[in-house]
Amino acid sequence: MSRPVVITVAITGSVARKKHSAAVPVTPNEQIMATKEAFDAGASVVHIHVRNRDESSSSDPSLFQQVQEGVRHLCPGMIIQFSTGGRGREASERGSALFLMPDMATLTTGSVNFPKEIYANPPDFVADLAQSMNQFRIKPEIEIFDLSMLYSAKELVEKEILQAPLHCQFVLGVKNALPAKRSVLEFLVSEIREILPGSTWTAVGIGKHQLEVLEWSLELGGHVRTGLEDSLRIDKDRLAKSNAELVQIAAEACTRFDAYPASPEEARKILGLS
Ligand code: ZN
Repeated sequence: MSRPVVITVAITGSVARKKHSAAVPVTPNEQIMATKEAFDAGASVVHIHVRNRDESSSSDPSLFQQVQEGVRHLCPGMIIQFSTGGRGREASERGSALFLMPDMATLTTGSVNFPKEIYANPPDFVADLAQSMNQFRIKPEIEIFDLSMLYSAKELVEKEILQAPLHCQFVLGVKNALPAKRSVLEFLVSEIREILPGSTWTAVGIGKHQLEVLEWSLELGGHVRTGLEDSLRIDKDRLAKSNAELVQIAAEACTRFDAYPASPEEARKILGLS
């Protein structure tokens, strides 16, 4: 029987600028329109970073608020997920927009090397961010950039700082972190099934690994993420025209694995959101 798959679109991210691809939406208005197109193409979750006027990463709650309001208006039922990710943001500000009560927010449960920096998430910081999410009734998406982060998430469940079932995202193909290898994903999936039964998961491959990881994820029973944050290209010769074009590719891939893009209602049920 065909299964519904939650497609998350990561529209902007914190790295790529207009000079890398004109398709990257950076103003709230561009972000709202890009999300609407991606929603129409089958995405049920939007993962949001916001940018300052000079395109640098921002933590400004008023920018998050503008995007959230626009998306709620144009994309009824779509799940809104704020990034609390670190690149280019002060640690003390990474949770500063959570009071806006998006449906979800990302939570990285440990530290790791990124290509050129340390992505620092010390234990107390992670626990504080998780508690803020509890306070504002936000479901975390646990970002797994390295294996230990899965076990740290389990420990937070045992301490009742996080509530099972979790939703985890395995990020593969970031230089200095987990490689985009199928055997690595298979191991992560077997571990999550064992130590966090009933949890849902997504896998994403960064850059040139996008499509192969998406297909492994569909094959192994996971959900998928795509978008210009993760990959600016369709293939080595062509930039993606839009986030929607990447979502279309993900939606087509679903049909090859006896799956279909979940509606917002189905996605909410799968992720345990109201
Ligand atoms: Zn992100």
